[in-house]
This record gives sequence, structure tokens and C-alpha cells, in this order.
Amino acid sequence: MRKKLQFVVTAGPTREYIDPVRFLSNPSTGKMGFAVARAAAARGHAVTLVAGPVSLPTPKGVSRVDVTSARDMLAAVASAVKAAPDAVLVAAAAVADWRPASCAAKKLKKSRMSGVLRLVRNPDILMSVKTSVKVGFAAETDNVMKEAARKLREKGLAMIVANDVTEDGAGFGTDTNRVALLRGDGSVERLPMMAKLAVARRIVRACEDICP
Ligand code: C5P
Repeated sequence: MRKKLQFVVTAGPTREYIDPVRFLSNPSTGKMGFAVARAAAARGHAVTLVAGPVSLPTPKGVSRVDVTSARDMLAAVASAVKAAPDAVLVAAAAVADWRPASCAAKKLKKSRMSGVLRLVRNPDILMSVKTSVKVGFAAETDNVMKEAARKLREKGLAMIVANDVTEDGAGFGTDTNRVALLRGDGSVERLPMMAKLAVARRIVRACEDICP
């Protein structure tokens, strides 16, 4: 019988508010992370999906926590991992690396804004939580494999999914993706262009192989 795993999956963008009506973010739609959550649940695994602001339905059998900012996402992931320390963490979210140093309580008047926004670094969620297996994504525009290998090493991951977001049919918002799976043991598997759900199934199977 297949071992039942606990997955914690992050998906979508984060929003980093400047004031109540303005924020910094990115074009992530959450499709890849939601596909991973759906594929893992379909294989009988327990799944907690921590989702940034996206407009996607919750996959069947998945427990979902909605968050807004990177710091909210970190808190939700830390709490999910605390409840399941052996969880496989799949970080598909496009987390904003920076946030405004402060968020104004009321809408800023453009006539009073200086044109300079002071930013501070957000925490790295993958690197901030302790769990037995971590899988990351590297969405890159250049030196894709080299950057992915660096992140695999620096973030202490079991696997990284490398993704050239400039390629047609791959990356933000598409229903398909073309990725390579780089594992901590040095192996590299280049997958053809396929539906994000099919990519997600390959990722889930790879996680099952990593956690026999
Ligand atoms: O942004 P970066 O290319 O470093 O993202 C690589 C991996 O790290 C992704 O899996 C992403 O979800 C994760 N990440 C994170 N927290 C951040 C930035 C990235 O968990 N603040």
C-alpha cells in the first residue's frame, strides 16, 4: 500500500500593501500550486494549501488557508508544519521578495507622495520553516538551470522545479508548463511541455519517491 503523506503547498502571489488601496505583487495565478494540491489529494495524501489572493476553486479533498502577504503566508505555513513536522512542503507560491517598510492606514494622497518607496526584505518561507522534505520552484528568465541548481543548494531542498517563464506556454497564467526537475542527489529530469496538472502529478510522484 502507498504511504500516505502530508503535503503543505503554497500557491499564488502575495500582496504587500502600501496603503489600503495599493500594493506590490506579481502575475502569479496560483494554477501550478493548485494543480499540485489537487494531484496530491487525488493520490490520497492529506493536503493543506496556503493560497495567496487568487480566483481559483479549492481542489477536492484539500484544506485551504487564504493569506495576503508573505508574512501571513509564513505564519500559515509555520502553523501547518507545526501540526505535521514530517510534511512535504511544496513552495509553488511567487512570494514578493520585498514589502513597503510601512503601510499607511489611509489612502496616500498622490500630491503628497515623494516618488520614493522604502522597501524591506520579506522572510524566505522555504528557509524559515523546518520540515523533512522541501520542494521549491525556480521561475527564471535567464540561466534557468544554473539558477535552479543554486537555489536547490542554498535553500536545502530535496528537489526544485525549474521553469523558464519567458517561454510560450510556460510560467505565469498558462494551463501548460515545461519544467525540469532537479533533485538533491544531482539527477535532472527534463519534462516536455504538458498540462500543469500532468506536471503536478510528476512532482507528487517524485515526492513519493523521495519519502518511501
Ligand atoms: O523567489 P525565489 O526564486 O527565491 O523562489 C524560489 C523558491 O523559494 C520558490 O519555491 C518560492 O516559493 C520560495 N520562496 C519562499 N519565500 C520567499 C521567496 C521564495 O518560500 N520569500
